[in-house]
Amino acid sequence: MDVRAQVSTVFHLDKCIGCHTCSIACKNLWTDRRGAEYMWWNNVETKPGTGYPTLWEDQKKYRGGWEKKGEQLQLKIGGRGGTLGKIFHNPALPTMDDYYEPFTYRYDELTNAPAGDDQPTARPVSMVSGKPMKIEAGPNWDDDLSGSNIYAANDPGVVQLSEEEQKQLFAIERMVFFHLPRICNHCLNAGCVASCPSGAIYKRGEDGVVLVNQDKCRGWRMCVSGCPYKKTYYSWGTGKSEKCILCFPRQEAGEAPACFHSCVGRIRYLGVLLYDADRIESVAMKDDAELAAAQREMILDPFDPEIIEAAHKSGVAEEVIEAAQKSPVYKFVKQWGLALPLHPEFRTLPMLFYVPPLLPVLSIHNQGTTKLADDFFSTLEKARLPIKYLASLFAGGNEDEVKAVYRKLIAVRIQRRNVTVGDISDEEVAKACSTAQVSNEVNEAIYRMTSLTSIKERIVVPPMLRDRAVEAGMDPEQHRQEMGFGSRQEPKRRW
Ligand code: SF4
Ligand code: SF4
Repeated sequence: MDVRAQVSTVFHLDKCIGCHTCSIACKNLWTDRRGAEYMWWNNVETKPGTGYPTLWEDQKKYRGGWEKKGEQLQLKIGGRGGTLGKIFHNPALPTMDDYYEPFTYRYDELTNAPAGDDQPTARPVSMVSGKPMKIEAGPNWDDDLSGSNIYAANDPGVVQLSEEEQKQLFAIERMVFFHLPRICNHCLNAGCVASCPSGAIYKRGEDGVVLVNQDKCRGWRMCVSGCPYKKTYYSWGTGKSEKCILCFPRQEAGEAPACFHSCVGRIRYLGVLLYDADRIESVAMKDDAELAAAQREMILDPFDPEIIEAAHKSGVAEEVIEAAQKSPVYKFVKQWGLALPLHPEFRTLPMLFYVPPLLPVLSIHNQGTTKLADDFFSTLEKARLPIKYLASLFAGGNEDEVKAVYRKLIAVRIQRRNVTVGDISDEEVAKACSTAQVSNEVNEAIYRMTSLTSIKERIVVPPMLRDRAVEAGMDPEQHRQEMGFGSRQEPKRRW
């Protein structure tokens, strides 16, 4: 057993209000500069919808992630030979149209306009050409389902629904959506790392954060293809690729990443998971429908003395094991089985997990919560947002995985209604708990972690990284310089 530590995350989708504060916090900190205008290391998209870059989930178009070839796993863009053959022509790369042409406004025309009869306006201008432009796309253009007949209808998860299901989904009185915030998943079997011909992308040993060494990067952009989530970006400013760094400098100072710190809905949880690195390949080879469970399985119990001993042998620091024991991510993913990986069928073993949204699923037929308790299963069968759609997002198509999560979320709701409103009987609560296979105590803990926690409980940053790096003979400052964050240059524009 090779025990490793991974700083992992959970996003609770019922709590996301789609305010984009996270995206702006990240943009201001890391990508507010030349060459990075179109980049959103953190983006929030509306689902159903085609996302950013558009149709990123469609791997027939982008060829990201892994596929099974007989007994082996192979990158969809091809093995090493395949990637090298594509370095001068790679048709699977997203183009600027797939992202959007970055724009700003001529604010000076607004603020310095001379007095006159007409209302001054700030015209949009392209940040690529500097010329006036018509804005036709943006990072969440289909926000809150605007233009859903164009965007939501083309969502790959919607396309796989039956005609009848699609018709129901888009019936105006049943229209439904939720927000999906996305950052790099800091995957265990990262497609970006495997596809880089220069060996510039690596997974940091102490916490599993995936980084691009800016000195080694040659700008081949194979990582952009290799990542099925499209979370590496090419900078025309530096001629290098870059990506979310999970705010490792902030974490090294004991702070939460900026998007976590600023999250208005408090949907974000961060903590350490221990896992068995020897099982990465066998888990990634599982069938689509088994992947979510297999990924959960490979997460190890940080309280088990045998695991602790194995972790020590693998060089995991004591403080990191203690952080893993307090990890809210461990609770959500492993203990409660409430959080699922996004598109596990891409086989990169993403380490960002989502609690699927309950509210869009439940609001049907004017049923009150009381009815829910009576009609526990049929509620899910008649869900407003088809379970099949959610299973295609979070469980490789395995509807049972998603239903198991919803049963627990509904049981929590029924129990809270019993406590706060009192119109649901104790017997009904007991029935719901036994159907969902959760105890009252677990329900209470889930409720607390979802609603009442402090930032210290939600975000447990391990106290290891910087001092451990020093002990291991690494110079953290030099490491940062190597990453290119200390000495940024403004080379010639390349697009
Ligand atoms: S999400 Fe993409 S960029 Fe991030 S580690 Fe996974 S494959 Fe790499
Ligand atoms: S800041 Fe939080 S609530 Fe707002 S969009 Fe981002 S993840 Fe959602």
